Amino acid sequence: MAGIYLHIPFCDKKCIYCGFYSVVSKTLRDKYIPALQREIRERGNFFSSLYPADQTVKTLYIGGGTPSVLNTESLKQAINGLKATFCFPNTAFLTDNPDEFEFTIEVNPDDITSDYASQLRQLGVNRISMGVQSFQDQHLIWMGRRHTRSQAISAFRTLRQAGFKNISLDLIFGFPSLTRTQWEENLDTILDLSPEHISAYQLGVDPNTPIEKQVSQGKLTLPDEETCEGMYKTLQRRLAEAGYFQYEVSNFCKEGFHSRHNSSYWNRTPYLGLGPGAHSFINRKREWNFPDAATYCNPTITELREGENLSPEDVFNEILMLGLRTIGGAALKTLRESSPQSDIFISTIAPAIQDQERKGNLVLTTTGTIKIPPEKFFISDGIIRELFV
Ligand code: SF4
Repeated sequence: MAGIYLHIPFCDKKCIYCGFYSVVSKTLRDKYIPALQREIRERGNFFSSLYPADQTVKTLYIGGGTPSVLNTESLKQAINGLKATFCFPNTAFLTDNPDEFEFTIEVNPDDITSDYASQLRQLGVNRISMGVQSFQDQHLIWMGRRHTRSQAISAFRTLRQAGFKNISLDLIFGFPSLTRTQWEENLDTILDLSPEHISAYQLGVDPNTPIEKQVSQGKLTLPDEETCEGMYKTLQRRLAEAGYFQYEVSNFCKEGFHSRHNSSYWNRTPYLGLGPGAHSFINRKREWNFPDAATYCNPTITELREGENLSPEDVFNEILMLGLRTIGGAALKTLRESSPQSDIFISTIAPAIQDQERKGNLVLTTTGTIKIPPEKFFISDGIIRELFV
């Protein structure tokens, strides 16, 4: 089984917190799909080292940037290029069953019209991920988002009317003007809409963002950890009460609606990333395309990426990090099989595992899996750091 990520590196406006690679300029948009087609052709053999059955692409994720700034005709050309090059299940692009094929696209609420939503359905999209971030207009203005609360709610309803039965909404917490009451109100609204999937992230300070500048100049103070932890616990409690299952630190879903594509990152399934800034993974090798749309769109430039072979330590740490952020944890068997040196690595981290167990931060199950209990997910990054070899 394999996955493809397709990056659309364009936004109509940059949000003040965003560290993802995207450009606002519209001059490259016409050149982008031909450039993507070139990379699709060049990467046609990417999965060929896998067994034939494993080469089937079971998840396709179009992210950004803001994919919904492109018209569906442009998206269709890219998808046709993928269909002509890679192996998809027979039912792909026709099914609503994410186990057969999951096809997600990220959208911004203000791009959604009835026509656009219907056209996405016709392309075979069966899962929508919509960046809402807050249902309060003053927060959206502060973040630099393009949409309003009412546009987000109306876009959700439009997507439903177009037939989307698998919608994920994103929220952000832990930013300066968000009060606990407003956070509860955001949760009230999202639960009223009842999407199949919710992702919720604590605001981070990414390098080279306006937020980083404001924080470093002392013009912005982020809420303290206790406040953020309180909001995270409220999130966990409210979503659990509403029947959502937390399957990863930042991700919650109704039964059966976990993101297959993101789960495959955490399971270390091979995936191909296309577009500037996109990452790929196969056979213990990670590659990343240079985050430069102008270079990417220049047909005379053929050096688009670099990569590295992961060391046994890297592989071991990745299995730990990705596994421990999920509800399933990291299996000792998988760690043990990761390299000939893994037994040494496990002995090296055994005292740290025991120490974290004593503190209640880790659980070692009878089936040989180490897990972070969900009530400790908020401090998962710190716990995981203690275990790295
Ligand atoms: S958060 Fe999304 S819409 Fe905002 S700048 Fe980043 S990629 Fe673009």
